[in-house]
Amino acid sequence: MTIRPILIHPDPRLKTVASPVGDITDELRQLGRDMLETMYDAPGIGLAAPQIGVLSRVLVMDCIKEEGAAPRPMILFNPEITWSSEDVSTYEEGCLSIPDQYAEVDRPAEVEVRWIDENGAPREEHFKGLWATCVQHEIDHLNGKLFIDYLKPMRRQMITRKMQKLKRERTRP
Ligand code: ZN
Repeated sequence: MTIRPILIHPDPRLKTVASPVGDITDELRQLGRDMLETMYDAPGIGLAAPQIGVLSRVLVMDCIKEEGAAPRPMILFNPEITWSSEDVSTYEEGCLSIPDQYAEVDRPAEVEVRWIDENGAPREEHFKGLWATCVQHEIDHLNGKLFIDYLKPMRRQMITRKMQKLKRERTRP
């Protein structure tokens, strides 16, 4: 497995709508495993393919946080939200493409999601709590949307300027 570099906002690839994947090939399974490795290494609880520059509808997540609990690595191909609750919950979100910046975002508290698994089989699951927030955040990435897009323009611009500065610092020899 390979840890892939994570793109930092602003980057046009993070604003692009990703394309659905076709048949689940070994190459796609490898992509999913690399994404999990990259996510755990970061560390994070979710990662979408555009964040490593692959514009395909693939996301990975594992929202198990309890110390000592068994991990639950998930790879979702072509995920789709088929139902959202009217109830809203608010979480302080962050993003591996926007390091060290956090903000409260309101989202439906529960969602039904349909996707294709690593074996090419259709799957469906009802998510709530942190899992529901995470899967919605990652599906947003597949649609070129970031959590800061939910914030007021002033706050969003402030975070974007910080990220531009961070990128300049990182590329300086
Ligand atoms: Zn993110």
